[in-house]
Amino acid sequence: MPEPSSPDPSAANPPPTHLQWQERAPGILVAVAEPDTVNLVLVLPGQDSVTDTTPGALLIDTGSTPEQGRQVRADVVALTGADPAHVVITHGHRDHWFGLAAFEQIPSHGHASLRERLATEELHADRQTLGLRAADVVLPTQLMYLARGLDLGGRRVEIVHLGPGHTDGDLIVVVPDANTLIAGDLLESSDLPQVGPDTDLTSWPTTLDGVIGVLDADSLVIPGHGPPMTRDDALRQRAELAAVVGEARALIERGVSETEALSEGNWPWPLELMEAPISHAYAELRARGLVPRAQLPIVIERRRR
Ligand SMILES: [Zn+2]
Repeated sequence: MPEPSSPDPSAANPPPTHLQWQERAPGILVAVAEPDTVNLVLVLPGQDSVTDTTPGALLIDTGSTPEQGRQVRADVVALTGADPAHVVITHGHRDHWFGLAAFEQIPSHGHASLRERLATEELHADRQTLGLRAADVVLPTQLMYLARGLDLGGRRVEIVHLGPGHTDGDLIVVVPDANTLIAGDLLESSDLPQVGPDTDLTSWPTTLDGVIGVLDADSLVIPGHGPPMTRDDALRQRAELAAVVGEARALIERGVSETEALSEGNWPWPLELMEAPISHAYAELRARGLVPRAQLPIVIERRRR
């Protein structure tokens, strides 16, 4: 009697992926790409296509290098059986963007400010650090300014620019049917919000008001780095950023120098991490014309008994 044929193991076990993808919300997978522990997000298409759009997944952010991008692209094929239908770059930092060159022929979306960013010294330095050529960093094919909707086939997602913050071109992605928002680096849970040369610290809290406005108590927020967050987490981070700006403004108006600001101010984060945010806030507010104001003497009269 012939041996019963054993089932093909490859049918039960899809090919292994390079990264570990975890489902954080229905049909929304997240993987952490090293060395910058950046969250890459894969939004799967809907079950029932009600349009004639070719269903396909949406990949949000692509890792730090074209090589990592190729691994991520292979992961998407292993997980979904096809290339992603669309790619979104949340902002122009290397850990989110530099994998994009591996996704040629696939529509990709990013803020129009990435075009100017390509020419900056900061980007040039990042490219050199990673040993990449100019051709290794490519622009998204569909640059945008404000908002765009995508139909993934029975699942609609919105890509929105709510204003400057972490950079001048941050995009968020909203997946309404999963009550999930992908925030890029406008929010971070594994570290403090990162303030860099391209940050608009003064506008960041207002931009986060827009993010918070589309959240409810049950919403899931996937930040650029770190575990998922809630609306309360986003509110707290918004308040901390506003506190940094507000405190710096008050100190400048009182005539407190930048070097004294660390010890003079009340800051929301540990002092050893405040140097860069204070320096950035001072430079930004002074560039906007903020100067010390004449202070009125405050006299507290004691009430006579
Ligand atoms: Zn960033």
